[in-house]
Order: sequence, then C-alpha cells, then structure tokens
Amino acid sequence: MTPSESAVTRMSNDPWVLEYHTYVPEDEPLREALCTLGNGRFATRGATPEHPAVEDLHYPGTYVAGVYNRLSDEKAGREITNESLVNLPNWLLLTFRAEGGPWFSIDDADILEFRQALEIDRGILVRQVRFSDADGRETTLTQRRLVSMARRAAAALETNIRPENWSGRLTVRSSIDGSVENRNVARYRDLSSKHLEVLATMREDGNLFLRARTTQSRVETVTAVRHRVWIDDDPLDGISVEPVSGDELVGEDLVVEVEQGSELRVEKVMSSFTSRDTAITEPLEGCRVEIHELPDFLELEEEHVRAWSALWRRFAVDMDADMRVHQITNLHIFHLLQVASPHVVDMDVGIPARGLHGEAYRGHIFWDELFIFPVLYSRAPEVARSLLRYRHRRLPAARRAATDAGYRGAMFPWQSGSDGSEETQEMHLNPISGRWHPDQSHRQRHINIAIAYNVIQYHRFTADIDFLASFGAELLIEVARFWASIATYDRIADRYEITGVMGPDEFHDADPNWDGPGLRNNAYTNVMTSWLLHQVSGLLESIPERQRAGLWETLDVGEHELEHWDEISRKLKVPFHAEGTISQFEGYEALEEFDWKGYRERYGDIDRLDRILEAEGDTVNRYKASKQADVLMLCFLLSYEELVEVFGRLGLAFDEATLTTNLDYYLERTSHGSTLSRLVHSWVLARGDRPRSMSLFRQALESDVSDIQDGTTPEGIHLGAMAGTVDLLQRGYSGMEAGAGGVLHFKPSLPPEIGRLEFSIYYHHRWLDISLRGDDITVTSAPTTMPPIEVECRGEQVSLASGETRIFHRHDA
Ligand code: BGC
Repeated sequence: MTPSESAVTRMSNDPWVLEYHTYVPEDEPLREALCTLGNGRFATRGATPEHPAVEDLHYPGTYVAGVYNRLSDEKAGREITNESLVNLPNWLLLTFRAEGGPWFSIDDADILEFRQALEIDRGILVRQVRFSDADGRETTLTQRRLVSMARRAAAALETNIRPENWSGRLTVRSSIDGSVENRNVARYRDLSSKHLEVLATMREDGNLFLRARTTQSRVETVTAVRHRVWIDDDPLDGISVEPVSGDELVGEDLVVEVEQGSELRVEKVMSSFTSRDTAITEPLEGCRVEIHELPDFLELEEEHVRAWSALWRRFAVDMDADMRVHQITNLHIFHLLQVASPHVVDMDVGIPARGLHGEAYRGHIFWDELFIFPVLYSRAPEVARSLLRYRHRRLPAARRAATDAGYRGAMFPWQSGSDGSEETQEMHLNPISGRWHPDQSHRQRHINIAIAYNVIQYHRFTADIDFLASFGAELLIEVARFWASIATYDRIADRYEITGVMGPDEFHDADPNWDGPGLRNNAYTNVMTSWLLHQVSGLLESIPERQRAGLWETLDVGEHELEHWDEISRKLKVPFHAEGTISQFEGYEALEEFDWKGYRERYGDIDRLDRILEAEGDTVNRYKASKQADVLMLCFLLSYEELVEVFGRLGLAFDEATLTTNLDYYLERTSHGSTLSRLVHSWVLARGDRPRSMSLFRQALESDVSDIQDGTTPEGIHLGAMAGTVDLLQRGYSGMEAGAGGVLHFKPSLPPEIGRLEFSIYYHHRWLDISLRGDDITVTSAPTTMPPIEVECRGEQVSLASGETRIFHRHDA
C-alpha cells in the first residue's frame, strides 16, 4: 500500500519528535513500523491497541530477537521449508466502551482531534484522540506506551479515558491474544503462518498469563500482564473484574463508574520471558517474579527514560542542518538502538536486516550488518562484540556447509537464523507475474567477506586483542580457508578464479553466455578476497605469541598455508572492460545495454526491473543493469589508499581516473532497487561531488520515513540503510578511517548543507569528541589513563593524549 502525502510530509518541528496530526487508515502499516518500540531483546509494532490483526490495516506484531520457527509448504511441486522470526502473543490488546455503546475502534469513531507522537529521545509512543460515538458521547483518549530500555522483558501501556460530556458505566477490556500468526508480508500469506500453539491461559493473584510454544523449535514463551486502575490519580482497588476467555486468549473486563470530566487511568504492565532467556529458571516463574515487582507506569517511564538518556550520551549526532535531516538521523539512531542495544550483550542474536519491526525476510540476518556495525563498534563495542559472537557460535554450521560443498574452512549462509543453516528461501514469488522461481541468492558467498571485514574493522577501532585471540582469529582463518579453497588456479593465465557466485547486485544470478551456475570472477568478491587474505595474515601476527601458537596448533595452520593465501591474494583475476572500467563480473561486457528511458516511460518506477522483465518473459540477466552497487562497494569498504594498494598487489593500476570512470559507468546503470544502494553511491561521491552525494544522502534518509519502495517499510524498516546514513555522516563525511597501522585518519568533506557536525566515538579504549565545520575538524580526547593515540589528517600526523584537543584546519593541507 502506498503511503499518503500526510505520512510523508507531516513531521513535527522538533528533531526529537515524529508526529502525525490526522488518522489515515492506509498509512497505518507504515506508521506501525516507524513507531515500533523495542529494547534490543524485543519489540512491538506501533499498532493500535484495540485491534487484532486486520489485513493491510492493523498488524500488532511482537518479536523477541532470536525466536525462530520453521514451517513447511509445497510450492511449484517442491517441498520448501522457511524459518521465520515468530510473531509472539499480542500483549497490547485493549479497548473500552460506555454502557450500551460500541467497543472503541479508531476506524469507527467520529474523530474530533488526533495526535500520534513518537518521542524519539524518550522512547515513548503517545496517541491522543478526542472522538464522539453515535449517541453523541464525546470522549478523550490518551495512551502512552513504552518497551522498557531499563528492563529486558518489560513493557507498559497507559490508557487515560476522560468522558467529556457524559457519565456512566465504562468497561475496559484488556487481553493477551495468543491466536496471532505471521501474516505481515502479503507475499508470504500463501504459505503456512501458524508458528505458535497456546499451552495454557491462567489468572493468578489478579494477573493474567498466557503460555505458548513454537511448533517446531519448541521455544516456550510466557506473557503476563497486570492491570491497575486510578480515577483522577486515586487508586481504585475494589473494582469489578470479569474474566474474558477465548480459545487462545486470556483477558478481563474492568468495569468502572466514571463521571463527566474525570479521568480514568488504566495501566497495563507486561512481562514476557522465553525459554531462550538467561538467568531465569523457566519462563513462567520468570514472569511471576517480574510481574509482581514491576513498578507503576510513571516509575517504569522514569527508569526507561534514564536508560535512553545514557544511550544518547554515546550515540547522539548533533548538527546544523535542516530539520528533516536532523530528525531522520535521530530516528535512524533510535531504531538502530531498539534492535542493537546493550540488552543483546550475552544474547545469542545477530541483527535482522528488517529490524524487529516486521516480517520481511523472515527476520533473517544478512550482510547488512556491514552497514550497521560501524555505528556500533565506534560507540558500543560490547554490543558489536556480542553480535560477532553470534557468527562465531555458528562456525560449526558454516564448516559443515563448506565441507558439504567440497570446500575447506567455513562457508557462512547468505541468510542466517537460528542455527546458522542457509535460510535463503528456495523459491521466490514474483508478485507481478504471480510465478514462483528458484532463488539463487544463496550464491552470495561475499557474506563471508562481510563477516571477516566486520571482525577486522571491530579490531581496528577497539584494539580488543582479547576478542581477536579468542574468537576473531578463528573466524578469520576459517573464512580465509574457504576463499583459498573456492579459488581455482588457471595455469595459462597464471591467475586464480572464483566461479559459481553472485555479487551484491542481485539482478545477476547467472551469465546468459556461460553454462555454469552463478557468475565468474565477480570483481567485488575477488578484490575483497585479495584484500582479506592479505589482511588476515597481518592481523594474526599481532596476536601474542602464546595464544597464536595455541591457535596454530588447534586449527592446524602452517606457514605453507599462509604462503598459499599470499599467492592467491596477488593473483586473483579482476576483469576489466577495454576502456578501463572494472567489469562487474567476467562476461559483463557482452551483455546488452538496457533501455532505461523507455522502461521508465512505460513503467514509472523501475527499481525492481528484475520483476518487470520476468513478467514480460525476459530476464534482467541479459542486461547491463544493476539493482545495487556492486563494483562500487569496493570504494565504500576500502579507502582510496587501500584500493591503490590492493590493486597494486594484484598487478593492476588503480588511480583517481579509475574511480571516476567506474563511478560514472555504474551510476548510470543502477536502478537502486535496494535501499543500500543510494547510500553506497552517496558515500563514493562524498569527496568528488558533494552536491550529488548530499542529494543521494537525502534520498537514503527518506528510505523508510517516506517508504520510497512503495510498501516495503510496513514489512520492517531497512536497518542497513538507517544505520548506513548515520555512518555516512560519521565516517563518510569525516573520512574517518581506523587504519591498519593503528593511526586514526580523517579526510573531512562535509557538504555545505551541513554547517556543523558533532559526535563522539569510542576508539582504542577512550572517548573522542569530533567536531566538523566545513573542512575543519577538531578532535578531543576525553580524559583517560591510556597512552596517546596517533591521529592524521591531510598528511599531518599528531599524537593526541588524554584531555588534549587538536584542530586540523583546511589551510593546514
Ligand atoms: C538487497 C540485499 C540485502 C537484503 C536485505 C536485498 O534487497 O539486495 O543486499 O542484504 O535486501 O536487506
């Protein structure tokens, strides 16, 4: 569903508030995703409390990170199994009615006033509605809710009801609904969606409990709620409570006499544990303990806001820029923290590409972490470290996958869920043609580069040698082994080749002029593999001898193997077109040019021209047309200096002209069918063409708030694009790079639209405050007992000691 103008444009004048002043039913799915509240461990969409799921209108999803379940179906004659992040019981459900009147629904009420506000700094969602019913009763409803950032398993909904022109009996009906299914994504609705079975509903000490279990993974989940009621701040103790039971639901009616002008306050406080949670004996007992000890809403709100405030101290990015840039940047950091907060430390989870905000991609974890990690390892290394351990724990599965495919080392899956198996769907549906096709995207072996790259960058920022020695090195060695074994030697050319893969550009899953599966010599994959094999050997050297010797022994690494990696890293094949353009993959130059103009005229939006062409009986594989940055990803991940070095090692030239040629060439041939694409292009343009970079940055900012892909945001935010925009500010425009040699480099290039940019990062065990104005940059080290660090900007390198400030002016250059 396309959002209306109101959803896109009616944002408040405060960079910390996302606000809507009208209720627009067709915008609800988008607002639900954008107003999701979460704390890293779990999240609940910003849905109306009074409705269960109503197709394409209301979808109250609640997801706990890491709770997956598998279901099987038959499609196109094949049995297929999909693993999904499970939509858990709906704790929000709450409505009310005046005696003789209808149950309140925002869709039926005559709305007199409406305001919905997401308080980004405080993590509170507010809804205010003044409405009248068919009998002319006017009522004001104010609801506030939170998902506690201070407690991992608690949330609360406060409902205030003021009868404006009537008095009488009011019934508030509040429940926990266990009948929920995974129905958020229209494309998947044809597949099985019931992941939960309700085991029991209970009422104990005035609290409600619902126990459920996932059907295949057998994760038990318990949701408990407690109600408390006040009138004008006076607690009402002995009110009449009538149980409400359904098949898979437990609830109660709270019946109260209300007076015109008085205010009824009902607090619904929730606790929910699963059998995957640590430090509990079992979920029911965990809920019993917590539901008793949870304080009232105001106190919960106070500690929650304090927890958010502590996070903002680390994560805030301050700037002089227009309101929209500032506001969306804040919103993006907010949503990132709602998925990757300190609560994930010690949880066994990765970061789902679509957050905990919806069901697209079934909650799977992709290479998108590549775009997310830099914001984390530069501010919350404990979170990044924990997320990297998610990968480390899945090394056995990745080793198995490599062995089964005939390779050595570890081959991580393109899409990952519970146990590290390949979760990429086997068949995908083209919603335009209605046809199902085998999905080849598991061939994106470059996920293994992303994982290793994150380990390396984490290390460069944190100097966490302990992590490297204990976990990181093993990941690096096993990934390097995989690449060394998938690469085959072409004796005649004296080059190594990698075939059967896909690059990041998902439009190309095969070469029409080649019989083999996948592609040959994807430039991104081969250059990054060369970089990686070289880096790994160097990094391993930095591990203290005693641990290194242990690693060598355990993993059976020898000098001969390192020499082999070195040789491959110098001899990987990187195809070029005749005119000096890097070929996205071998054979790319033989493809046909795509008629961009003609198709734009015919179809308007051609972001997903793969689907358009398939529906026409054609295939995008035939054309020089990319969904997203592929070759240009190289310039996103590696600095210019690193690119010159890695191409040099490969015996190939790379200079400013190569950069410009490839930028122009691929920009013209990219549809930006992935939200990650504009981000990468903006980044690559940051130094050479600031106006274009800024324009693409703005478009990347709009990805979710304006749902620029026409309906994908309601299925979950694009966390890679969200975090990526923050990283574009912090690293892209400051040119910040944690160099391999332990020097922190800057190359500021702020677009004129951003007058001032300030943020803090945690680098080598100390906080640094960074401030950019134009091309001037100021770096201050917070007091620390650690030795000075080396900082370089435009060729000038200085030592920065505890408490010192250094300003690099443009004229220093
Ligand atoms: C993009 C991938 C990305 C995935 C999940 C796809 O549309 O092409 O690069 O990993 O979405 O966000």
